[in-house]
Amino acid sequence: MSAKASLQTYRKRRDFRRTREPEGGKRSRSGRRYLIQKHAARTTHYDLRLEHDGVLKSWAVTKGPSLDPADKRLAVRTEDHPMDYGDFEGVIPAGEYGAGTVMLWDEGKWEPLDDPEEALDRGKLKFKLHGARLTGGWTLVRMRHRKGDRQDNWLLIKERDPDASEDGDALLHEDVTSVRSGRIMRAITEEEASEENRDLIGKGTSGSSGSTREGTGNEARKAGGASAGGRLPGFVAPQLATLVDEAPAGERWLHEIKYDGYRVLAAVAGETVAIRTRNGLDWTDRFPGIADAVRALACQSAQIDGEMAVADKDGRTDFGALQIALSTGKGDVGYYVFDLLSLDGRDLRREPLFERKVRLQALVDEQSSDILRYSNHMVGHGADIFEKACALGLEGIIAKRADSPYRSGRTKTWLKIKCGMGQEFVVLGWTPSSVRGRAFASLLLGYYKAGKLRYAGRVGSGFSQQDLAALSAKLGSLARKTPAAGDVPRDIARTAHFVTPKLVVETALRGWTRDGYIRQGSYKGLRGDKPAREVTPEERGRAPASGRGS
Ligand code: MN
Repeated sequence: MSAKASLQTYRKRRDFRRTREPEGGKRSRSGRRYLIQKHAARTTHYDLRLEHDGVLKSWAVTKGPSLDPADKRLAVRTEDHPMDYGDFEGVIPAGEYGAGTVMLWDEGKWEPLDDPEEALDRGKLKFKLHGARLTGGWTLVRMRHRKGDRQDNWLLIKERDPDASEDGDALLHEDVTSVRSGRIMRAITEEEASEENRDLIGKGTSGSSGSTREGTGNEARKAGGASAGGRLPGFVAPQLATLVDEAPAGERWLHEIKYDGYRVLAAVAGETVAIRTRNGLDWTDRFPGIADAVRALACQSAQIDGEMAVADKDGRTDFGALQIALSTGKGDVGYYVFDLLSLDGRDLRREPLFERKVRLQALVDEQSSDILRYSNHMVGHGADIFEKACALGLEGIIAKRADSPYRSGRTKTWLKIKCGMGQEFVVLGWTPSSVRGRAFASLLLGYYKAGKLRYAGRVGSGFSQQDLAALSAKLGSLARKTPAAGDVPRDIARTAHFVTPKLVVETALRGWTRDGYIRQGSYKGLRGDKPAREVTPEERGRAPASGRGS
């Protein structure tokens, strides 16, 4: 069948004056693109798409793919989609077919093990995936048609190979961000809702669909207005550092202070500013001071990466102090900026880090706000710098390869070396205090490992009076009868009170006991910027050898 005929159903179901999904029409080279879109329609499902014959063959996997070969996941065959649908991430408006948020959850290549045309006809397609998240062998097999079936039902099954896992759903729980933009579902929904920030993935890439979107107003304004340099840069998922035990040696590394606060990316174009968290949530309204400072920069547009933190009089940054400053509006909140991703419409991510930092420093030096602070660095002498940082009571240092480009996600060209141990946990419950007036004695904490919530131990120190009051109010509203983790020891569970695992706290700890519980932990603050599902024990990598390689 020609691609054109094969897309008839797709086009019939959609009103392209209303939805921003692509109309399709671009003929493709013969390729083997693979992708999965997480789609929060009436129910959330995962749309598996395999390029064949110029279109994307599609299946809606209702529960999502499982890495466990024993799981057979229902995959309802849906209409062929146009190739450019594979770049679509956004919101399908209410009332339209498939209304809801769409996230690019995985992408890569696929490799059929037989002739795909025949295999699809026969109803059994064996293939390999080379995606960012899904890999290895898979099978799609058509179920026998039963009387009254209105759907074309298939099963998606993982092959038994080294990429299989008994914990089949771990991936779905741990990888909750877009593989393309790093955003969580809520961030995609919110960003789409705010008209200003619509310059995102899937736009401007498709020539044929551009004309169908004129009615949205936003397009029209953009077309008649700003030059390329004046456009608000779209969200870029931040580069993250790998935790290692030792600072790397050599002159190719530069070292910065590790700030203890919230990671924040600021985008500006003219008067428009967007302050976003590491997951792409729009927090512009929460940080008006930073928004004003960024708006005042002497440039047409820019995207800046940094950490919002509160420094004490000795220059140390403290997560707890930041929390107090945010809730009371008092305190010396600074936006410590350390990277420049774009300037005046030019993408700088491929430039070496030291060049990006030179430009950033020039930009920050020109302005007068005391909120925006350039995060300086030292080149080489990693071990010395780390030792001094710890002696000063700092949290640690970040070592970065001076010649490296900016890459979204966790990398080994950025390393973090911590003085004490910090770890985030999910609050599972609390134990009552025998001290009159104290809200609780300790918090019961946990984390996710391989998709399952595990008990990690208790933390009973580090709480101020304000912390106790604020926490007890939150805990009260989340109360539940049973522990959310199955492995809370019985003697603790007997007297504890449990809560729905939603709150995420930052702690400092000395390490782990032999049983794998928290050793000498103390509370540092609540994290509002992180979903509980993303709280996993931080793993340590090895510091790469000095200088060479990445
Ligand atoms: Mn769908």
